[in-house]
Amino acid sequence: MIPSAAIKKKKHSVTVCGAARPALLLAWYDRHRRRLPWRPLPGEPADPYRVWLSEIMLQQTGVKTVGPYFEKFIARWPDVEALGGASLDEVLRMWAGLGYYSRARNLHACAVVVRRDHGGVFPDTEQGLRALPGIGPYTAAAIAAIAFGRRTMPVDGNIERVVSRLFAVEELLPQAKPLIQELATTLLADSRAGDSAQALMDLGSSICTPKKPTCALCPLNDGCAARARGEQEIFPRKAPKKTGTLRRGAAFVVTRGNELLVRTRPEKGLLGGMTEVPTSDWLAAQDDKAALEQAPASKGIARWHRKTGVVTHVFTHFPLELVVYAAKAPARTRAPEGMRWVPIDTLADEAFPNVMRKVIAHGLGL
Ligand code: SF4
Repeated sequence: MIPSAAIKKKKHSVTVCGAARPALLLAWYDRHRRRLPWRPLPGEPADPYRVWLSEIMLQQTGVKTVGPYFEKFIARWPDVEALGGASLDEVLRMWAGLGYYSRARNLHACAVVVRRDHGGVFPDTEQGLRALPGIGPYTAAAIAAIAFGRRTMPVDGNIERVVSRLFAVEELLPQAKPLIQELATTLLADSRAGDSAQALMDLGSSICTPKKPTCALCPLNDGCAARARGEQEIFPRKAPKKTGTLRRGAAFVVTRGNELLVRTRPEKGLLGGMTEVPTSDWLAAQDDKAALEQAPASKGIARWHRKTGVVTHVFTHFPLELVVYAAKAPARTRAPEGMRWVPIDTLADEAFPNVMRKVIAHGLGL
């Protein structure tokens, strides 16, 4: 039997360890913080515009991919006033390739509101931020903590992993989110809330990685429950993913000399406002014949050539498989209604989503 004095001692040592974590984290962050384009240098104040822009871009997208896009946006629109004065089309073009395009539409809508209703100044509370387009609870907490020093903890995937390991959270995600949020809050320092959050993000990305975490270098290793059990990689525990049903369709790559036939998707819905080559509907269990019947009708386009293979793409809610048909139209063939010809050497200026870039590359044999 374990003597009660020993239990008391153990309890005490765990409490001290828990209380020391925020300071340990900050000390580690001060030595090892990542240099990121949107982060100010140590001691410099954060710019809410840069924090907001980076947080929107980082939703669903990794740091490496976001970096060049962030730089391009900042060079073109150095502040929220400038971005709020741009057209949605310009923003979509600049965003093209980053995916999840509703973010770009919300980004633009948010900049317009901050410019028009807030004099170009972001609200400095979570509540005020959440009232803006495209800012949910996580993003509001991240901006409030990082840009305004509010004592709140935004929990992203990296933080979820660190916290679930540190406390060996057995509950499955996503149900475990409120518990993880509560536990993550215990890691906030009394001041420098934004640095506490960024320290955990950096720790998750560089040390507490999904596979083979380098626990020996972790500032929190002393009291980590998953490490003590030697079971780091089983956390966070997750409910099995439901993947959507495969949808199928056809895409039509039509050239007229050095031009390509394109159209703009409706403003609302998936990939709203983006440019695409004509496609059939995307439906579960659609056969090739039904898809080909939806090819654009034009006098000049007579023969469709089916490209070998298919283009696949995975959206959040469903995977997609597209058969690609190519055709050549004679000079002066008119574009069918709602479509237009664009020079192939200016395709980079069009707001094509990634799936369309793949289709065009496949169709043109690039
Ligand atoms: S000790 Fe290991 S598992 Fe625990 S938080 Fe640190 S890196 Fe992650």
